Amino acid sequence: MADYVFPPAVTAIPTTDGGLFPVRRVYCVGRNYAEHAREMGHDPNEAPPFFFGKPADALVTDGAAMPYPTETADLHHEIELVAALGGGASNIAVEDALTYVWGYAAGIDMTRRDVQATAKKGGRPWDMAKGFDHSAPIGPLVPAMNLGEHPTKGAITLKVNGDVRQSGDISEMIWDLAHCIATLSKWVELKRGDLIFTGTPAGVGAVVRGDALEGEIAGIGTVRTTIV
Ligand code: MN
Repeated sequence: MADYVFPPAVTAIPTTDGGLFPVRRVYCVGRNYAEHAREMGHDPNEAPPFFFGKPADALVTDGAAMPYPTETADLHHEIELVAALGGGASNIAVEDALTYVWGYAAGIDMTRRDVQATAKKGGRPWDMAKGFDHSAPIGPLVPAMNLGEHPTKGAITLKVNGDVRQSGDISEMIWDLAHCIATLSKWVELKRGDLIFTGTPAGVGAVVRGDALEGEIAGIGTVRTTIV
C-alpha cells in the first residue's frame, strides 16, 4: 500500500465519557426557529429546512479561544443544539432518524453577518460567511445512551460576558431533529462522524475581541469560548 504524502488530519471532539469522536462533515440547518427567522426578515412558514456546511476543521473544542476572523466587522453568535451521528444512510425515514444519533452537544455557529448579507444580496454562496476558520466552537459530546431519551425540549441560552443574549427552548424548532436528518439524507448520504447544527433561537448579535461566550442547553451541557 502506498504511503501518505503526509499524515492525514483528523478532527475529533471530546466526549463526556472520556472518548474522542472523529468528525467527518459538519452540516448546519438554516432558520429553524420562527422568531430567529423573523428577526432575519423571513417568513418562518415559507419553506422546508435548508442546509449549508462548515469544514470539520472549523470546530473549536470547549474552552479554547476563537480568533476574531478577518474580513468582517460584524461577527455574530448562534447557539445551537448539535447532533452527532454514529451511523448514516440515504433517504432515512423520519421514524428511523434518531436511531442514527450517537450523541449531542451545545455548539455555536459563528457567522460573518455582514459577509452573509452581501452574499444573500448578490446570490452568492455562504461559505465565506459561515465556513471560515474557528467558526464552530463546540462543547463535549454527551452520548445519547447516557441521556435516557433523545432530547425534545430544554432551555437553550447564550450569554456574552454573563449577560443573556439568546434564550429559547429546543422544542421551538420548526423542523425537529428527525425531520432535519430525514430531509438532509435526501440530498447527501449521511455517515458516522457527521455533525448537524440544528439552527438557532432569536437574539443573535455581534461580539468583539475580549468577549466571553457561554452557551448552555439544559440536560446536554455547555460550550465556552473567548474571542481573541
Ligand atoms: Mn445557524
